[in-house]
Amino acid sequence: MHEFELIERYFQRSGGQGVVLGIGDDGAVLDLPAGQQLIAVVDTLVAGVHYPRDLDAADIGYRAVAVNLSDIAAMGGVPCWMTLALTMPAANDAWLNGFSAGLFAAAAEFDVALVGGDTTAGSDTVISVQLLGHVAPGQCLTRAGCRPGDRVYVSGTPGDAAAGLELLQRGQKDHVLAQRFRRPAARVALGQAVAGIASAAIDVSDGLCADLQRLLQASGCGATLEQECLPLSAALLEQCGAAEALRFALTGGDDYELLLTVSAAAEAAFLKAANSCGVKVTRIGTADSRRELRVTRDGRPTRIDMAGYRHFDGPGGAAE
Ligand code: ADP
Ligand code: MG
Repeated sequence: MHEFELIERYFQRSGGQGVVLGIGDDGAVLDLPAGQQLIAVVDTLVAGVHYPRDLDAADIGYRAVAVNLSDIAAMGGVPCWMTLALTMPAANDAWLNGFSAGLFAAAAEFDVALVGGDTTAGSDTVISVQLLGHVAPGQCLTRAGCRPGDRVYVSGTPGDAAAGLELLQRGQKDHVLAQRFRRPAARVALGQAVAGIASAAIDVSDGLCADLQRLLQASGCGATLEQECLPLSAALLEQCGAAEALRFALTGGDDYELLLTVSAAAEAAFLKAANSCGVKVTRIGTADSRRELRVTRDGRPTRIDMAGYRHFDGPGGAAE
């Protein structure tokens, strides 16, 4: 199949808000809504590193978009457009069919248009999606705005996706937890709803503790995380018991939930905004000035291995 034929067959779709010029020219031309600032994010998925090689092509396509939507969500932005840089060993019709269906399914949920990309042959499958969105000036959420005394919240039920990945690798792809890995729900509506209310945000890709530490470091503060407050799903508890569920929730990656902090004064407005978009948020701790993340159990300090998934770690570690 010729490269242009491939693009036309699988990736060229007309329309999209603000798309002056989409796929087919040397570049896309996009109209940003008046007075808005541009947000740009990009995430790469490498076969065998970021997803199991035998994951359904539709799930791979969906995840490639969802992980980027999650970054836009963590900025409090509105996703609009994406580009796709796709490298693969061969043009396999069945794979491309599934992949593009999953990609457009995730994009359609948020009215995101694919406006360009690049298609190349290479020794392994590497998928980079760049997402562009917008936010009103001064409204974006960052990692750096948390202050001592702020409440720490998490959306959804962390740990499900990491446990789901293990089930997937054992062949249980239809398990409800495996579904959470295959089709992560980017918290786009929540990010937008709390923009201007929450003090800081980060999405959980590498693990709740690891990502919370990044937020705290960027903000120059610390926090106490109350282990018993973690919202563990019934499915996770049933699958692996309380101790293992806790380990998944604290250190497992791939959830794409949001970690949010909010001042005591803005907490009521925050909860109202979160409630309005139908996403459960749970208070799991409090920020302080001690510049470290401590985990307590019923008020007493407890030790856990906080390392999330780190690329380049150890011999033969994977490249991000
Ligand atoms: P150029 O040679 O100018 O880089 P290409 O031949 O790479 O152009 O691409 C032709 C058109 O198809 C461009 O508009 C490009 O953005 C688009 N395109 C290429 N690959 C993809 C893809 N995987 N998904 C979406 N659009 C793509
Ligand atoms: Mg090109």
